[in-house]
Amino acid sequence: MPRLLVPLKEDARTIHITGDQARYLVTVLRCRVGDPLSLFDGKGTSYRARIAGITRRDVVAEVLDAFRDDAESPLDLTLVQGLLRGEKMDFVIQKTTELGISQIVPAITERSQIRETRKIARWRKIAEEAAEQCGRSIVPVIHDVIPYQDIFPSLPGASWPNKTTGLIFWEAGGAALPTRGRGRQVPPALTIAVGPEGGFTGEEIARAEAGGFSVVSLGKRILRAETAAIAATALVQFSFGDLGGLMPPRKSG
Ligand code: SAH
Repeated sequence: MPRLLVPLKEDARTIHITGDQARYLVTVLRCRVGDPLSLFDGKGTSYRARIAGITRRDVVAEVLDAFRDDAESPLDLTLVQGLLRGEKMDFVIQKTTELGISQIVPAITERSQIRETRKIARWRKIAEEAAEQCGRSIVPVIHDVIPYQDIFPSLPGASWPNKTTGLIFWEAGGAALPTRGRGRQVPPALTIAVGPEGGFTGEEIARAEAGGFSVVSLGKRILRAETAAIAATALVQFSFGDLGGLMPPRKSG
């Protein structure tokens, strides 16, 4: 069944689907009046709907019911990714969306080979499409590019993030990744930082530590940045989120 991201209000009974989405339904999928549709608003609500009418301009969908679905990880996970060249950032955004990331912060680091981008809109679209495809009801937030030093809360000028636990991945040495041990509390929010192709500088690592991040390792092989981002996301979703199985209910407080 087609699954589309639409700007639906909670109490809407019908929605007009236009543009590329309408073309996709009619021309590519050859949908007919009466066909079922699955819609979601990108903020956590999904809708069962059916096609009530097709015109040259749009597809009218009748909303049957709304529900919260549970394809979301209980872990509020942010990836700070040193800007990557070419299409590597596209790849990281698509794959980490599938793995349940909540937010991605593209950061300009000392060794980032690119210092600015015009791709933010494209990255947001990739996140939307990946969310549609993998059954998520929330589209991860792709932030505007920020300077690396602005990610640390306790340093002057920092804007991101607030209450969180941070892990920075360093191939030149770091502690073993924390796991969800017996009695250990699951962090409500976690930020992971992965460097660009050239890695983080020692100074950047020190700065992260001063900002409250723990320096952690992914093992003794040096991974490409995009592999590291995906592996790191998968590992923390396994330990603290929902990858590989279901989490027991989180303790409150
Ligand atoms: N500067 C290095 C490679 C950087 S790899 C070199 O050229 O030799 C890019 C990013 O992936 C790093 O900044 C780090 O965040 C992550 N990474 C890759 N392998 C890693 C490992 N074994 N442990 C922790 N992080 C790793």
